[in-house]
Amino acid sequence: MGSVQTLDLEQLRARLSETAEIVTKDDSPPELYQKSIARWSESSSIIIFPATVEDVCVAVEYSAASGLEVAVVGGRHSTSGSSSSEGGIHIDLAKMRAVTVDPTNKTVTAQGGCRWEDVDTALANHQLATVGGTVNDTGIGGLTLGGGYGHLMGQYGLVIDNLLEAEVVLADGSVQKCSESENEDLFWAIRGAGASFGVATSLTYQAYDQKNDTWAGLLFFPRERVRDVFTAANHLLDIGDGRCTLLPAYGTPPPSFEVIILVAVFFNGPQEEAETFLEPLLSLNPFLNTTASVPYDNCNSLLNHVLGPGFRRSFKGSSILVPVAVDFAEEILRDFEEFVARVPDAKASVVIFEYFPYKKMMEVSQTSTAFANRGAIVGIILAPGWTDPKNDSVCREWTRTMYAKTRADRLRKMSEGNVDSLTKTTVGEYMNHDGLGAGPKVLYGVNYDRLVELKKKYDPKRLFGNGPNSII
Ligand SMILES: Cc1cc2nc3c(=O)[nH]c(=O)nc-3n(C[C@H](O)[C@H](O)[C@H](O)COP(=O)(O)OP(=O)(O)OC[C@H]3O[C@@H](n4cnc5c(N)ncnc54)[C@H](O)[C@@H]3O)c2cc1C
Repeated sequence: MGSVQTLDLEQLRARLSETAEIVTKDDSPPELYQKSIARWSESSSIIIFPATVEDVCVAVEYSAASGLEVAVVGGRHSTSGSSSSEGGIHIDLAKMRAVTVDPTNKTVTAQGGCRWEDVDTALANHQLATVGGTVNDTGIGGLTLGGGYGHLMGQYGLVIDNLLEAEVVLADGSVQKCSESENEDLFWAIRGAGASFGVATSLTYQAYDQKNDTWAGLLFFPRERVRDVFTAANHLLDIGDGRCTLLPAYGTPPPSFEVIILVAVFFNGPQEEAETFLEPLLSLNPFLNTTASVPYDNCNSLLNHVLGPGFRRSFKGSSILVPVAVDFAEEILRDFEEFVARVPDAKASVVIFEYFPYKKMMEVSQTSTAFANRGAIVGIILAPGWTDPKNDSVCREWTRTMYAKTRADRLRKMSEGNVDSLTKTTVGEYMNHDGLGAGPKVLYGVNYDRLVELKKKYDPKRLFGNGPNSII
């Protein structure tokens, strides 16, 4: 391994374009460095800000030659710290946020450093939308390369199911396009395990007409309504046509900091239709209702503060087979109540159930892309949030305990039968929500062996995607 001190930064500067930047700990003012390493899950190093694809190639070649650990940085929302390196090199794509819309073919091409807000806004100018993250300050890079859930997935599938083409800088510094008809094996691998294969400098997605406003907001219920809320959510997931997402969550929001149930609601249609469809939930009389008609590009900012930055956090995704057993949902609520009572500092904690309509993504087989979490499941996010470092271990332990509990429940139900063949092969956890380092075999399941072969082909020296989930 090399060290930052031994690198010839002047040589690197000379090879980069004029607008590219390099930031190190020694630069002044010091805030520049602090700003460059700030991210959702904090953890650094030398930071290279390429401005062009050629800069990315130089940065990759330079990093490979340095022997240092490399972290590619997109929207900085990694839940595992995988876009950070203590003492290594960051290739931060923040200067590469251009978006081009092709309204005739209804496609959008975005540079790898874009946030979803960039894409949603550019498409809205043409009354178009694509499947993207529900929190629009997340990056398109990490979110897409891991699979990608969003409010429109019930209609159009996962983000990767709408990815038409990508431009990737590989570990040898070469630039490769990939799609269904070019470098097909690379295209397969980046749809689910992309962060382990190179730097995605641009991503092209299918877009769709989005002329109508959506109906979205938050419903607040007292904890006593838990059984009713989950009964309604199960029913709506069952009868829906893919236009409605529900995200019931347990939290302790201010000012009372009491445990309540929040349900983030999204319906792709006008208010009247939304209210008719959602009547089973609305009739439970939420004590606060913030739902309203909003343009699609706005609805993805409504949750930006629910899981905002600034706290110590752990984050782990798990899942429950559909339909969610109401008894189990209530048991998890009791576990949550016990946890926040025991650790009062953990006020920013949430448990979120992801009622994304799953049927559309099940039209694609488990082995068609590297993503192996297709199935009739409701995702569950376990996300304690606290401030005092002395609570680190108790909070992280709670995440581990709850993950083990929900995983055991899913595996037991799967072994009992009555599960369709695709769901039988689901890994039941989303690699983009893996803050525990579950390991590549767990996260990629039936696709793991093929990924190992492709990793040896495209990144044999393991430049990208290191850490506990490293493929080889
Ligand atoms: C508040 C919050 C809300 C979320 N909401 C959603 C959601 O609605 N849907 C969903 O599917 N997921 C969601 N996630 C999970 C999200 O998909 C992951 O956190 C994702 O990794 C974030 O990508 P990023 O580019 O912002 O993060 P980063 O931290 O920058 O990167 C994450 C990983 O991707 C790699 N990477 C990023 N960009 C590139 C690139 N261009 N080329 C190669 N590698 C790259 C990084 O090296 C790192 O390994 C959410 C997470 C948070 C914290």
